[in-house]
Amino acid sequence: MTKIDIKNFNLAELEQFLSGKGKERFRATQIFKWIYQHDAASFAEMSNLSKTLREELEEIACISNLAPATVETGGDGTRKYLFSLEDGEAVESVLIPDEGRNTLCISSQVGCAMACEFCLTGTFKLTRNLSTAEIVNQVCAVRRDAEIRNIVFMGMGEPLHNLDNVVRAIQILLDGNGLQFSNRRVTVSTSGLVPQMAELGKRVTVNLAVSLNATTDELRDRIMPVNRRYPMKELLRACREFPLPSRRKITFEYVMIGGVNDSIEDAKRLLRLTSDIPNKVNLIPFNEHEGCGFRSPTRGAIDAFHKYLIDRNVTVITRDSRGGDISAACGQLKGRMEKKSG
Ligand code: SAH
Ligand code: SF4
Repeated sequence: MTKIDIKNFNLAELEQFLSGKGKERFRATQIFKWIYQHDAASFAEMSNLSKTLREELEEIACISNLAPATVETGGDGTRKYLFSLEDGEAVESVLIPDEGRNTLCISSQVGCAMACEFCLTGTFKLTRNLSTAEIVNQVCAVRRDAEIRNIVFMGMGEPLHNLDNVVRAIQILLDGNGLQFSNRRVTVSTSGLVPQMAELGKRVTVNLAVSLNATTDELRDRIMPVNRRYPMKELLRACREFPLPSRRKITFEYVMIGGVNDSIEDAKRLLRLTSDIPNKVNLIPFNEHEGCGFRSPTRGAIDAFHKYLIDRNVTVITRDSRGGDISAACGQLKGRMEKKSG
């Protein structure tokens, strides 16, 4: 019999699982605390559960974990963790230090089905969704190595294309008996799956980042095929309607590609499109990678775009390309074991 992995349950589901086995529901809280707050690796450690319950659980259930196969540290302190999964697939998480406030960027899928033209992950197509446990275990593993302040779903995959597991993982991240993150410190980034954005907002309260990356449907259709299904008007409406944590703003991510979407005309259109939505803009200079003909924008284009928005009172952050030397920057994750020569 294959054992049930407890880390695939949110708290309510664990309660249900226990009551289905004729156990007291409140044991779920105790088990959650052992797993997520004391990092228990086995039921045997859970000293406030009876010996019989521990033994019974040991028979039918397990507590999965991930250990990084490799950890690389870049010159700027960015750390890339590569995890190999049970079926031989692999995913990456990236820890980005910022004056003691570390942000962990986690993956939600192996590969991605959205096929954005500029993204390396997209060129690998979708292999499979990550389970809830595989998502949560990236956090559990990195937390053994460093303190994590913010979590962003900006690694490999389109989180809203794996909605159920992502929602469940968020519930565990936010649970007071679980990983205890504030909802202000967890952000889901999407390429714009409109119906799933509404569904996410109904099921959990988290920050939302939307990868806009273009200011006309014509260009967005080309570089982000998802736009053909959900054009910008619908996407922006979904942004307006998204129930954020209090006093939070939507983040619009904008990958600046040299000569493609980096003109002042683009900056003007971006401002016009987003002006009625409380937002901040994240400018991400395109990170070049093999197999994609796009080029990074010039420093001049980045500065001019940034200044145009700042001068009009938009909150803008231009992301410096963190972790570029270890291929950990945005759009560079491939989640493959590098073959060692010989
Ligand atoms: N699938 C989600 C989250 C993962 S991608 C999404 O698309 O939002 C995280 C961010 O990396 C997105 O904003 C995406 O536009 C950006 N990105 C992808 N490829 C990139 C590249 N080559 N250079 C810079 N940013 C890139
Ligand atoms: Fe997928 Fe996001 Fe990359 Fe697009 S940018 S292919 S949605 S991971």
